Amino acid sequence: MFTFSMALTMNIHTLTKDLPRRIVLSYAAIGTVWILISDQAIETLIGNYSQFTYLATFKGLIFIAITSLLLYKLINNYERSLIEISHKNASTKTIQYLIILNKINEYITLQKQLKNAMQYDSLTKLPLRSILLEKLEYLFKASDMHHQFAVIHLDVVHFKSIKYTLGYEFSEQLLIAITNRLTTYLPDAVMIARVGMADEFIILLEQIGDLASAHKILNYISNLFIQPFHLEEHEIFKQVKMGLAFSYDCGGNPEQLLQAAELAVHQCRRSPNTGYTIFNPEFKAYASRQLELDNQMRRDFNERHFQLYYQPIFSADTLEIVGFESLIRWYHNSQLISNLEFIPLAEETGFIIPLGMWVFGQACWQFQQWRSQFSQVKSMFVNINVSVVQLMQPNLLSQIDHILAVTEIPPQQIQLEITETALMNNAEDIADILKDIKSRKINLCIDDFGTGYSSLSYLQNFPFDTIKVDKSFITDIECDQKSVEIVRTIALMANSLDINLVAEGVETPGQLRQLQNLKYQTVQGYLLAKPMSVDAVEEYLQRQHHNCCSEAG
Ligand code: C2E
Ligand code: CA
Ligand code: CA
Repeated sequence: MFTFSMALTMNIHTLTKDLPRRIVLSYAAIGTVWILISDQAIETLIGNYSQFTYLATFKGLIFIAITSLLLYKLINNYERSLIEISHKNASTKTIQYLIILNKINEYITLQKQLKNAMQYDSLTKLPLRSILLEKLEYLFKASDMHHQFAVIHLDVVHFKSIKYTLGYEFSEQLLIAITNRLTTYLPDAVMIARVGMADEFIILLEQIGDLASAHKILNYISNLFIQPFHLEEHEIFKQVKMGLAFSYDCGGNPEQLLQAAELAVHQCRRSPNTGYTIFNPEFKAYASRQLELDNQMRRDFNERHFQLYYQPIFSADTLEIVGFESLIRWYHNSQLISNLEFIPLAEETGFIIPLGMWVFGQACWQFQQWRSQFSQVKSMFVNINVSVVQLMQPNLLSQIDHILAVTEIPPQQIQLEITETALMNNAEDIADILKDIKSRKINLCIDDFGTGYSSLSYLQNFPFDTIKVDKSFITDIECDQKSVEIVRTIALMANSLDINLVAEGVETPGQLRQLQNLKYQTVQGYLLAKPMSVDAVEEYLQRQHHNCCSEAG
């Protein structure tokens, strides 16, 4: 545009420069010729000439000269104004051009910044997933059959609990410290990318040999986390879980390679004592089995193949039943599917939300039935296991309120059990909901206590009424002095905080005696009663009711 306007200006300038001269010259020439060849002029030529004729010719020529001059000036002025206009236009256009140019620059810079923000993590400055995918794409194209590379998916164990106990900013500092440790101790050529929401990293190993070298690298990275992180006045020990997949594991597809590494780390998370797992094609079979199980679970739920069992909880002193814990059972084609298999899956897929609400409704309804049938149940309580996924769903409270209203069960006779690990990993998200549940007079119990590394100060932040000590400690109290000390310390702590105590997994009379000595109020386990079907519980309560009435009689 700029070039065009410059060319136009120059053309007009050249044209207008010749025009006045040509017009005026033509006019002057034609005018002079016309005057000279007029009658008077002929008369002059043949000698018959008067003074009057001479004067007329002279005046005519003067007239032509003056008008020519005027004409010249007129055209000249016109030409100048034309040039001024075109100059003005040209400079306006130049400014416009510069403004546009500036805007384009701004836009390009903004685009660059946006692209940067989308490709690099603002906190750790590490590349994000998109850059990693580009790089993998390139590697797959560039490398031949003999060159193999690998990716490691690295997760920081219990990262969320740091966020809750020490705050969001502290957890960000820790992420930066983890990044620094990785970048310092891994070679520069190794790409480290940050993926996922918080604590997940991908390490790309462009040069990797056989399986043995993979084990070497994974051990090397694990060892980087042996030393603690010193942040502010805190000393933080952090473990990592890793999943490694080789380039040949995924048919040349970057997304599938990342998926393979993720499947491997997923598998690693399932085994508490493993620091890393190398991808195995069987993991894919496992994932498809999970998919099949998920479909089957949803179908069987609609066809009412789920039921609740109830395991009695006893007073440690009198060995009388003080309450029941509801435990879900799924029979598929008359075969029991373990809770440990389908509950984690239901939590992962979100199916635990309808399933858990059914459990809550069913347990409340059942318990209220027993309360009306058996007088001794009136003073008992029902414990219901709740997943943290349920606690995070927005309409949980309105559903609880609805069930309480419909069943008319007194809320103080319900106790919700939440595992300590779930609590530790999601404390920030569920702290408020727990308070809301408590405000409805429903009791709260920490399940599997001792497995989630919670501390005394931590417990004070939550409105828990009961601690249920994990069965792993109870199993060992007869033979392992360390377990005895743990169980004793938990009892001291619970008593000082005025929290009730339950010991689960009591299987032997020796364990029961120890717990009685350690002043545990309530116990639960196969020694006293296994989980029972509704019919079995009713039979038991009926017998108890009968005995009680005949004794009174
Ligand atoms: P949990 O809440 O810790 O339940 C105790 C588990 O230990 C139950 O296994 C119970 O049958 C078993 N148990 C009880 N006494 C003994 C004993 O003396 N020795 C041994 N070895 N085991 C004993 P179950 O029923 O298979 O449940 C496993 C887990 O599934 C439960 O662990 C709980 O976390 C979860 N679960 C069960 N029902 C529900 C439910 O309705 N909702 C949710 N979200 N989770 C549930
Ligand atoms: Ca439980
Ligand atoms: Ca438990």
